[in-house]
Amino acid sequence: MHFTGRTWRPPYEANSYIIQLTSGCTYGKCSFCNLYKEEPFCLTPLSTFEEDLAEIKKYQPNARRIFLTGANPFALSYEKLKPYILTVRDYLIKCQTIAMFASIRDIKNKEVWQLKKLRAMGVNGLSIGTESGDDETLFLAKKGYTSQDILEQCRKLDEAGIEYYFVYMAGLAGAGGGTRNAVNSAKVFSQLNPYFIHVDSLTLFQGTELYTLANEGKFIPAGEKERLEEMQIFIKNLQIRTHFFANTISNFYPVTAYLPKEREKVVGELQHVMDTFSEEEMLEYRKGLKTLG
Ligand code: SF4
Repeated sequence: MHFTGRTWRPPYEANSYIIQLTSGCTYGKCSFCNLYKEEPFCLTPLSTFEEDLAEIKKYQPNARRIFLTGANPFALSYEKLKPYILTVRDYLIKCQTIAMFASIRDIKNKEVWQLKKLRAMGVNGLSIGTESGDDETLFLAKKGYTSQDILEQCRKLDEAGIEYYFVYMAGLAGAGGGTRNAVNSAKVFSQLNPYFIHVDSLTLFQGTELYTLANEGKFIPAGEKERLEEMQIFIKNLQIRTHFFANTISNFYPVTAYLPKEREKVVGELQHVMDTFSEEEMLEYRKGLKTLG
């Protein structure tokens, strides 16, 4: 298999077969991210992609789900993406879905009819690092889109029948901004149909803009308890039926829930964590995080 640079896949794609379609990120401006700083965006040549598909076929001829790696392979135009997607079927006849990371920005360059065609070819399961639905927070994070863009672009996915997952980042609004971020994000997300919402908690890493701003005293990170309260508010305000996962390493305490059914349970669990652990204990945990992977 041809993997270059950083290979990153979400935890929930652990059972998918991964293959590199792109490396690096087309954008690279998010103020909390240092993931692909040294890696220029690059598309795997079709011949190399085919070699990898042949290798997967050799060992897993019945593979049913493929995850295309790269920060945002969906940035490729419809015309560029199409031959790769069709080639997956040439090799893996039982493959049902082809998933990948996508940004809201990457959906903009596609018409609904193109999204429908991609869905028909097998594209399904876009992991979208929305991070927030609050305009002030999106601006601070330099995501390059607004809450209105999230609504407009994801409605196109809904129309095309493409399943998608959101990421929400607790603490991203900084100290004092958690409630606003949670309420406004829940309002936006509740108008859409994410199959699940995955929550990370902001960790400041060297080399990011937010890290520098924090050192200069221009960004005050939210406290650990404030983030858990933010998550409670977010959960209470979500008005959709969806799965909720906050169970990766950036979360001090892992929680998962099916909403709204388990709303009270998970809000209670978070309260229990806040009542049991001190701010210092939680902060110590975060300081120990060297990477998110
Ligand atoms: S968060 Fe994603 S889109 Fe933003 S710079 Fe990092 S890899 Fe690129």
